[in-house]
Amino acid sequence: MSVRFVIDPLDFVSNAGNRHDKIPLAELTRLHDLLFDMEGEITYHIDGRLDQNEKPGLQLRVNGKMHLRCQRCLDKLVHTVNLETFLLLAKNEFELSQADEDDSVDAILATPGLDVVDLVEEEVLLSLSISSRHAENECSTLKLKSTDNNDPPGNPQSAHPFAALTTLKKTN
Ligand SMILES: [Zn+2]
Repeated sequence: MSVRFVIDPLDFVSNAGNRHDKIPLAELTRLHDLLFDMEGEITYHIDGRLDQNEKPGLQLRVNGKMHLRCQRCLDKLVHTVNLETFLLLAKNEFELSQADEDDSVDAILATPGLDVVDLVEEEVLLSLSISSRHAENECSTLKLKSTDNNDPPGNPQSAHPFAALTTLKKTN
């Protein structure tokens, strides 16, 4: 059992705090919908430090292996998490919205009582939002010929001029 680790993030930075710990996947309940099973654990390292502009932030590294459920064949997909991010600490909503305008910056609100395990879970979730699937030839349902060719997101009608027509035909 890992213990919840709660920090005041700004204090954590002024004290140059750092910590690393392991979290069993079974405890990251928000991931469970995406998991094939709950085997394994992830390791995190968190460091409170200033960035190059002397702004406080949290350096977070997360590593580990997990078994995702492939979104195509629903079979086990071994996934390695290996993420590193610097989260700028915004002192208020205004600073947060300023930081959000800069795509190169990830920021979080520096609320006292920040639950680091929650934060780690959130970052892992974000890293998984990219569709999790086997490579094209590794799915266990090869016979199931995929008709989607990873179409880019967006307006399907502009991508496929005849898509609207097809839809019309189907509904009639
Ligand atoms: Zn698959």
